[in-house]
Amino acid sequence: MISIRPDEISSIIRQQIEQYSQDVKASNVGTVLQVGDGIARIYGLDKVMSGELVEFEDGSVGIALNLESDNVGAVLMSNGRNIQEGSAVKATGKIAQVPVGEATLGRVVDALARPIDGKGDINTTETRLIESMAPGIIERRSVYEPMQTGITSIDAMIPVGRGQRELIIGDRQTGKTSIAVDTIINQKDSDVVCVYVAIGQKASTVANVINVLQEAGAMAYTVVVAANANDPATLQYLAPYTGAALAEYFMYKGKATLIVYDDLSKQAQAYRQMSLLLRRPPGREAYPGDVFYIHSRLLERAAKLSNELGEGSMTALPIIETQGSDVSAYIPTNVISITDGQIFLSSNLFNSGLRPAVNAGISVSRVGSAAQTKAMKKVAGKLKLELAQFDDLQAFAQFASDLDKATQDQLARGARLREILKQRQYSPLSVAEQVALVYAGLNGYLDDIPVPKVVEFTAGLRDYLKASKPGYEANIKDNKMALTDEGEAMLKEAIVDFKKNFLVAA
Ligand code: ATP
Ligand code: MG
Repeated sequence: MISIRPDEISSIIRQQIEQYSQDVKASNVGTVLQVGDGIARIYGLDKVMSGELVEFEDGSVGIALNLESDNVGAVLMSNGRNIQEGSAVKATGKIAQVPVGEATLGRVVDALARPIDGKGDINTTETRLIESMAPGIIERRSVYEPMQTGITSIDAMIPVGRGQRELIIGDRQTGKTSIAVDTIINQKDSDVVCVYVAIGQKASTVANVINVLQEAGAMAYTVVVAANANDPATLQYLAPYTGAALAEYFMYKGKATLIVYDDLSKQAQAYRQMSLLLRRPPGREAYPGDVFYIHSRLLERAAKLSNELGEGSMTALPIIETQGSDVSAYIPTNVISITDGQIFLSSNLFNSGLRPAVNAGISVSRVGSAAQTKAMKKVAGKLKLELAQFDDLQAFAQFASDLDKATQDQLARGARLREILKQRQYSPLSVAEQVALVYAGLNGYLDDIPVPKVVEFTAGLRDYLKASKPGYEANIKDNKMALTDEGEAMLKEAIVDFKKNFLVAA
């Protein structure tokens, strides 16, 4: 039988009352004053940081951007339909961070690195702030290794180095995305981690790019970050920083990385939308005054790290879309001034059939020539000049009826050089192949091949070289990517032999 002892029970209760203490945790909570158009005005959040995440009652998250004397303006990462006026908002004390690590490779994630490919969670414990400081001068070393794009006209004339920021700029539908995607595909055997950030594009376009990468076997070393056109402006604005954080993880681990921002015009537009809704003063083209800073702090994170930090690198290929080839608009000039060069794609060239439509005359690479392979440097020195002279002569030759022999020769040479730079999508060339084509073109071996046949000739020459002179490619590889006299002799012999057969067959 259980006996109840009242004095024991009352003593326990007394003990508990005496020991009761209330932990008062001051949490920073405010109230929603107004919500709409992707922003919320919050009253009573005194201790919030700029850029801090705030959490609403419905579980959705926003970022505090405008800290004003009587309210805080926050941008929402959701559509905000379930946020009620008068509901509570909690400051989380955290700046946005994303999971990073090896497990992100092969995945498609949104602007906060949450998986959207239906392949389950990303298994990683490490995180990084999406905004972090760019490495300083001491932490860097200068760019010296090539980042091969596999596209002959770029690798020959506008070489890109690891750690460089090279802008791809052009009107709509001029092949900007294709150049970036081809470059990612070309990293297959080079142990470079790639991040493709899609900003403000149609979901179908992004799906297409992912398909292409998958088919080329490039997803294994690539992360895709997508903030599509129908996502909130906040996410489109954040996506590039998230991409940079994902790449930085690998860079600080000593790896080479490549990041594509496709495109930063759309990011600037998303930022403009957010800023105008937050009632920040509009400036030129209605962009806020700090629109330069959103791009400079992003692109400054691309770097070639010093020896002590492991020599990792982040090469950035930002993309900018121009309107009517106007490179002097606000955002294009900003990004041109931040990057180390630009690849200019022209719609005229694209429509005239020169694809990739690289306008060599106004494209530059300010640091990449230090990183060009020795073999290419040796053979392609004159290429840019020859093409520029060809462009000038061609314009003038339209009016002149007889031209002297020298001019005719130069025109003939230029027309063939143009042909060898034509390249289909998804078919990157190796250094040895590129060198062979440029060598043949610049040394006049193609001058007596009819222009319409040049593409056929170069394709045939590539196959012939592989089959008959396997030592040529190996020779370049063994000599630190330089073209030795021996290699040159093999190449010359192959060109002469192949040409003989080609002319007989034709
Ligand atoms: P948008 O402004 O829509 O983003 P974009 O400038 O990124 O366009 P892409 O989507 O890369 O351009 O290419 C436009 C079209 O040109 C595509 O249909 C693509 O298949 C084609 N194209 C791109 N590069 C080449 C090439 N080297 N050879 C043949 N076709 C190409
Ligand atoms: Mg595109």
